[in-house]
Amino acid sequence: MTAVQLPGSPVIEGDRLISTNPATGDEAGRVPVTDPTDVVRVVERARAAGRWWAELGFDGRRDRLLRWRRLLAQRMEQLAELVHAEGGKPIPDALVEIVTAVEHVDWAARNARRVLGPRRVRSRLVLAEFSAHLEYQPYGVVGVIGPWNYPVFTPIGSAAYALAAGNTVVFKPSEYTPVVGQWLVDTFAEVVPEQQVFTTVHGLGDVGAALCRARIDKLAFTGSTATAKKVMAACAESLTPVLVEAGGKDAMIVDADADLDAAAEACVWGGMTNAGQTCIGIERVYVVEPVFDAFLDKVVTRAGRLTVGARDADIGPITMPTQLDVIRRHIEDAVARGGRAALGGPDAVQPPYAYPTVLVDVPEDAAAVREETFGPTLTVNRVRDADEAVARANALPYGLGGSVFGRRRAAAIAGRLRSGMASVNSTLTFAGMSTLPFGGVGESGFGRIHGEDGLREFARAKAVTRRRARSLLRSTTFERTPADVARLVRAVKMLYGR
Ligand code: NDP
Repeated sequence: MTAVQLPGSPVIEGDRLISTNPATGDEAGRVPVTDPTDVVRVVERARAAGRWWAELGFDGRRDRLLRWRRLLAQRMEQLAELVHAEGGKPIPDALVEIVTAVEHVDWAARNARRVLGPRRVRSRLVLAEFSAHLEYQPYGVVGVIGPWNYPVFTPIGSAAYALAAGNTVVFKPSEYTPVVGQWLVDTFAEVVPEQQVFTTVHGLGDVGAALCRARIDKLAFTGSTATAKKVMAACAESLTPVLVEAGGKDAMIVDADADLDAAAEACVWGGMTNAGQTCIGIERVYVVEPVFDAFLDKVVTRAGRLTVGARDADIGPITMPTQLDVIRRHIEDAVARGGRAALGGPDAVQPPYAYPTVLVDVPEDAAAVREETFGPTLTVNRVRDADEAVARANALPYGLGGSVFGRRRAAAIAGRLRSGMASVNSTLTFAGMSTLPFGGVGESGFGRIHGEDGLREFARAKAVTRRRARSLLRSTTFERTPADVARLVRAVKMLYGR
């Protein structure tokens, strides 16, 4: 059934949000819209469920999360069809996204006790009569607001870790991918039928805004930098802590001793998978002069081979119709400012598709270099050496991920990138490494999902000291004598004053 005129745009009909395929306009499904005034009640229910969920303990939650992981793995193909139907993503890309999400559920479930569970930590000499204990307790209700571009991977990156830490989760999916969001929550309810531990609220931005103000205990936001600022402002009203996973403009650096075939292959994948609609997608490439021409040639050849189409193609439609204008504007602006299209160009945007475009020698102040394009486009610019490449890569307010190809200096160059993540001789791989934290710096956000840091992000440290002996250096009591204080001062001078 064709539900809307502009394929891909969601519509609200009565109390239903209808989600459609961006290539065909076919309905992908419909979900009930949550009235913004009801969001508080959903959060209250989640809080009540939270007591039960917390009491299950790490082992009980681990078992439930592993059962959910099993369902996700068993039904991967079904979920991939839904991701494709709703966002237009090619099925193989959807499967790769789901595999990554499954891996994170597994790791979060298996490691929550080790990372967050109660443990003894060492005492120090000045307070040797006390033992020290640390544990990480859940916040309570975590709100998760997610984008449409990775509708499985991004919410699970927050929700699985928050759930493993003992929180309940109220999830507001993007209006472009509500059906996938609902599928995640429904499958979770199959393994946790007793209480509403993981729930959704659906609607447009106003429902997300209501969630920020619904007395949640923490908010995990993934989306654009512009919306992140609004979310932070709303959360500031109640001092609700926020985790921000925002946009990016990731760079790839190709050094003189790089394997150029491997670099070109990874560059085209990193820049054009999911039609370039990837927060950690490669959008800018800096190549040292001696290998520039050879590298560009290989990139253009590979990108030129990619197929574009509705289903069995390498590149699917652009999910959000308005993004097509942004992509076109960036290409036109780059060319108007003296850049050259080595592949594609202004005609590459043919709604609902954008064809691969490789722009060369684009001025560094052009929109295609400075702003998130979110299309299958790359700017490839030549640099004198790796130092200039690093300086240019670091020149933007964004700092999410990045990639370096090379041998001798590649790891050192990756360390110098002002970003939360980097991959050496690959692109995007850090996202699938569940043992590593994921997140950005600057306008790309703050806080971390994934890995040990990702678990701690959804729990507050609870520190407890416990007396185990009488104090020899009495200081924290009005019963202390001048001699006690003098002994303390002498001890500290002996310990630290030399
Ligand atoms: P948006 O910022 O437009 O939307 C993100 C979410 O916020 C959606 O669920 C949206 O709802 C909701 N929202 C909109 N307005 C408000 C508001 N005032 N208060 C609360 N919530 C609101 O981003 P997109 O969905 O377009 O996603 C693309 C962006 O996400 C890109 O910038 C990309 O780089 C970034 N991203 C970052 C990632 C990371 O890990 N750093 C990963 C993936 C994407 P609705 O859709 O209903 O408007």
